[in-house]
Amino acid sequence: MPERSESDSRKLLKRLRDSLAEPGQGQERLDRITHLIADSMKTEVCSIYLFRDPETLELCATEGLRAESVHQTRLRLGEGLVGRVARFGLPVNSANAPQEPGFRFMPETGEEIYSSFLGVPIQRLGEKLGVLVVQSKAARQFLDDEVYALEVVAMVLAEMTELGAFVGEGDALRALHKQSVMLRGAVGQEGTAEGFVWLHEPRVVVTNPVADDPLTEIERIRSAVGELRVSVDDLLAAQSLDKEQKQVLEAYRMFAHSRGWLRRMEEDIQRGLSAEAAVEKEQSAARARLSQVPDAYLRDRLHDLDDLSNRLLRILTGQGSDTGAEMPQNAVLVARNIGPAELLDYGRKLRGVVLEEGSVGSHAAIVARALAIPLVINASGITTQALNGDAILVDGDQGIAHLRPEETVSAAFRDKMAMQAQAQQRYAGLRDKPALTLCGQTIALQMNAGLMADLPSLEGSGAEGVGLFRTELQFLVRNKMPKRQELADIYARVMQAANGRRVAFRTLDIGSDKVLPYMKPQDEPNPAMGWRAIRVGLDKPGVLRMQAQALIRAANGGPLSIMFPFICEYAEFKSARAHVLQQVERETALGHPVPSTLEIGAMLETPSLAYAPQAFFDEADFISIGGNDLKQFFFAADRENERVRRRYDTLNTSFLGFIENIVDRCAQSGTSLSFCGEDAGRPIEAICLAAMGLRVLSMRPASIGPVKTLLRRVDLRQLRSVIDAARAEGKESVRPAVIEWLANQTDEARQG
Ligand code: PEP
Ligand code: MG
Repeated sequence: MPERSESDSRKLLKRLRDSLAEPGQGQERLDRITHLIADSMKTEVCSIYLFRDPETLELCATEGLRAESVHQTRLRLGEGLVGRVARFGLPVNSANAPQEPGFRFMPETGEEIYSSFLGVPIQRLGEKLGVLVVQSKAARQFLDDEVYALEVVAMVLAEMTELGAFVGEGDALRALHKQSVMLRGAVGQEGTAEGFVWLHEPRVVVTNPVADDPLTEIERIRSAVGELRVSVDDLLAAQSLDKEQKQVLEAYRMFAHSRGWLRRMEEDIQRGLSAEAAVEKEQSAARARLSQVPDAYLRDRLHDLDDLSNRLLRILTGQGSDTGAEMPQNAVLVARNIGPAELLDYGRKLRGVVLEEGSVGSHAAIVARALAIPLVINASGITTQALNGDAILVDGDQGIAHLRPEETVSAAFRDKMAMQAQAQQRYAGLRDKPALTLCGQTIALQMNAGLMADLPSLEGSGAEGVGLFRTELQFLVRNKMPKRQELADIYARVMQAANGRRVAFRTLDIGSDKVLPYMKPQDEPNPAMGWRAIRVGLDKPGVLRMQAQALIRAANGGPLSIMFPFICEYAEFKSARAHVLQQVERETALGHPVPSTLEIGAMLETPSLAYAPQAFFDEADFISIGGNDLKQFFFAADRENERVRRRYDTLNTSFLGFIENIVDRCAQSGTSLSFCGEDAGRPIEAICLAAMGLRVLSMRPASIGPVKTLLRRVDLRQLRSVIDAARAEGKESVRPAVIEWLANQTDEARQG
């Protein structure tokens, strides 16, 4: 086979483009293309395999293999050489294919007589669409040049697939971004929403993958790269950047100025690609590498390159965040990841959020929770699959997103939403009624908050106060440490909005997953058990003191409740409390009024504190069980690790026994006790906690209605005997017994 030149490859691309411009159905087009490629590459065979579903490839067109095998031959991802190309997103080039490990003999295609095999992925920005293969009888290794040429062709095919050029009858020929897809991720924030996709970073659509005039295209790419370099240099020169931000931008700068990057794109253009397609080709290659790189640092750098490519595409096409597109009504934000400040900017305009990455404790999740927006995280592939304006259903309860749903799915989803809305109406009717159980016990229901925006929920939900105000959000959403006066103003507004109801302010709980953008990140092997929360507060007490001062000023002579996160031993509580008391003295000396009452409490989030000396329980004005952390340390099961976070039941008898122990210790010292982890907001968990002796539960505002409804229907003494019986029988969890008891009660109520 003769060596191919760059102009050969350009000719092939031109023929390809012309052929695509001719009218015809998807199948006809694919057939023409395989013929054309085989002819141009001088191989006996050219085949196109496309994905039918994420695990299956289907032979969709061929020149050289048996025509009957089209739409019949299927391969699983990873199966055979074609499956291998698809799995790894990298070419396979073999002079003796039948000898290759993993070769799969497909008699229906008549393949055995072809010795040489070259397969390249058809992929667009990491989205796998299929595999393009050429084969020939002569045993020969394809030249680098040929591999490259076929990759360029595959790139154009990918673009054309994206543009719907191969839409046809068969499932595998349906247009991309038209099919319904269900993406299974993880629960970030419960709730359901129906709306339309709003991409945080819109995809750039390349409509002209092939270009005739390489000189013009090279000029365009050089000028765009020049513009990009200036913009990155400007960023670097601008503002007061900290070391960390500088490092990131330096890496950006290095890529932007990389000769290799520009050279590769220029070579792509020489082969016949347009400037835009050249950027995408290199971006796709980088994304394919990204999925193979185990090293987190290198992965970050490849992400940088990805971001730069997006910027470059926006410069070239003029598309992007300033396309002038309007955010749709009922927008559902779709992003790879998003920072807390950006999410707050969108605020309540959003119906839901679906993230490709993210974690349960990420800042975005914290903000979504605070804004009560349903959030699905780890929805792998969402940013490549979704287009602006696509219909989407967000099932935050299950951690699922339905993109472009079928009507039947939408209808079922709407039914579910309508039922939830009806239930909310019923809950609203209970707003002013107490959570009074059948046995005459009143449980105080309070809400958790973290933003000013949460406070209106106090009225709406009927919460008796704020049992947990997480103060870290004000720190997380800024790019520098907030000033004391700023904090004092915010806290004062929170207290005013609470209108006399108690607000328990929790001092800064950072570290672990919550890293302040302006604090040096600690590279800790196990951050959840690392330098976090009060440990940071005591080691660097400046912030703790400043927060205490701000809270004292905000209280302005009124009542004040402060609690410390993650207290593990009495000594920590004593020191933290001493810091606050010193600040009261200092503020008084400065002429600020002393709080009328000052409660200082601790969050009980590790088993150790449950066994603290009696003096701790005597000294603490109140204790709040941080069930999320307590459970993770009790069971040694990471609350952010999907694989284990649901492994142990809160209604496990050991855990309930442990809670009982805490209730007893607080009762002995007369210390008031509440529970403010997520479990307090789950009705069955909540009634069991109440049966174990908890009298104050703090939860998300939306949970107050469901929890109150169930509490008002139960007799806690009876429930306690059900729990005790299950414990006596040696049951692992009391859940089955409790559910059965509840079901019998409902039956009795119906019959009665
Ligand atoms: C908890 O751990 O239960 C808690 C309420 O605190 P956070 O979820 O903020 O860690
Ligand atoms: Mg906690």
